[in-house]
Amino acid sequence: MIAQTEEKERVNTRAEHFGRLFPGAPKFRLKQMEEALFSPLFQSFSDVSNLPLLMRETLVRELPWFAVQEVQVLESAKKDTYKGVVEVQGGKRVETVLMKNARGAWTVCVSSQVGCAMACTFCATGTMGFTRNLTSDEIVDQIRFWEAFLRKSPTLSDSKGEPLSRISNVVFMGMGEPLANYEQVKEALRLLLSYTDIGVTRITVSTVGLLPMLRKLLDDPTWPPVRLAVSLHSADGETRKNMMPSSYDAFLDGLVEWTERYFEKFESRRRHLTFEYVMLSKVNDTERHAKALIDFSRRVGKVRINLIPYNFTGSIYRDSLPGDFARFQKQLEDAGVVVTRRRTMGDDIAAACGQLIVEKNGSVD
Ligand code: SAH
Repeated sequence: MIAQTEEKERVNTRAEHFGRLFPGAPKFRLKQMEEALFSPLFQSFSDVSNLPLLMRETLVRELPWFAVQEVQVLESAKKDTYKGVVEVQGGKRVETVLMKNARGAWTVCVSSQVGCAMACTFCATGTMGFTRNLTSDEIVDQIRFWEAFLRKSPTLSDSKGEPLSRISNVVFMGMGEPLANYEQVKEALRLLLSYTDIGVTRITVSTVGLLPMLRKLLDDPTWPPVRLAVSLHSADGETRKNMMPSSYDAFLDGLVEWTERYFEKFESRRRHLTFEYVMLSKVNDTERHAKALIDFSRRVGKVRINLIPYNFTGSIYRDSLPGDFARFQKQLEDAGVVVTRRRTMGDDIAAACGQLIVEKNGSVD
């Protein structure tokens, strides 16, 4: 499945375009161009005066300043969440979300693929199938898109165009499975860490749990130590397989083994690994499921479980009843498991987790 997702449509990155346009250019020119893209001083390649004039002119002609183009921005009633529908090369559309975080700064949720091949039965993106991987530029430009959005918004920036709150966090929790697009996601992380002030502890990559890729990143010296969130959703093998067709019999044992290796390698980063758990009524929120989750967390040592209220996506599932949710959470806490609960934001504009879908006919859900 992974090889297949890598092969479909291949779109060139900005760096590849640059290399083709200026084959003999010294390396620092590419760096200057990348720096300029993330600088608030420039709005176009023509402004980047430290690049030679001819290079600027060629860039203006050959390369768009943004790899994503706005189609539509929706604002939640509370004005704390914005959903952007953006077009990428080839006319495909993805969604990206800007939301206020607990510290009053902004968190950007980025998509990593057009669609998704994982087909999780509770997730709206899972129903649309997989189209193609996004390039590193199409990923980081979702953050540049929101930065520009804040700067041009009269209510979200001051009179000089400085955003009132800054973008402090990035989560890879939009459309797609980031680890099925490993190289481009890694390059996007490198760009963010090189050219913005967003650090490794402010970036979270969320994964369905592709074990070969999780193993690969543990042994990859160029994979940056960003936070990881693994979508566990059930510690009972059968339940997990029903919810997530990418799961299989030996998955949970493999995940326990991987988690042990992660902690061995990064003991100091224990807190930087989270297990996500979307609460579905009577499906994974019973006492038996809580018990399985407690056993799982005992096997892997102290971990954090993030309980996610289910956002309705037209699926067969319903969200946990408040009493069941509370009982489940208490059962875990009583057993000494560290549990947090995710706030739901932007559900009125279908911008909450798992609600991101762009209809195949191009209309926006
Ligand atoms: N492919 C990645 C990113 C997916 S979105 C992954 O699987 O982790 C981020 C989180 O939202 C995942 O944990 C995903 O399972 C969860 N999610 C998907 N649909 C949801 C829904 N309808 N309600 C709440 N959370 C959902």
